[in-house]
Amino acid sequence: MTGSCIFCKIAAKEIPSDIVFENADVIAFKDLSPQAPTHILIIPKTHISTTEDINDSNSNIAGRMIFAASEIAKGLKLEGYRLVFNCNEIAGQTVFHVHCHLLGGRNFGWPPG
Ligand code: AMP
Ligand code: ZN
Repeated sequence: MTGSCIFCKIAAKEIPSDIVFENADVIAFKDLSPQAPTHILIIPKTHISTTEDINDSNSNIAGRMIFAASEIAKGLKLEGYRLVFNCNEIAGQTVFHVHCHLLGGRNFGWPPG
């Protein structure tokens, strides 16, 4: 999967993206099609397809992703924000490399629809 995965290519810097944060485990870049004034994707550097593929041996990455999102949001001084993980097509997942959407800069309704 890694060979054809667009987010693996972004993590490897084989294709360009607007990177806003990076550490040993994750990389974060601006979404090409922003749904809010701030719309950043946080991804693990290693390929995991969906949240269903998070297990006992790799689940630390979920915390690393959320910590990165929190650090980015603090850096941007967001008053509040929404974190979204879409899992599988029925929930709107289009890229099958797990990612956390960090959305901010506007109000968000609930329930999300
Ligand atoms: P999802 O629908 O949850 O799988 O989210 C995938 C997101 O990736 C969408 O919001 C797309 O706009 C975004 N996206 C797809 N390709 C790229 C890319 N090359 N650079 C930045 N964002 C991308
Ligand atoms: Zn991948």
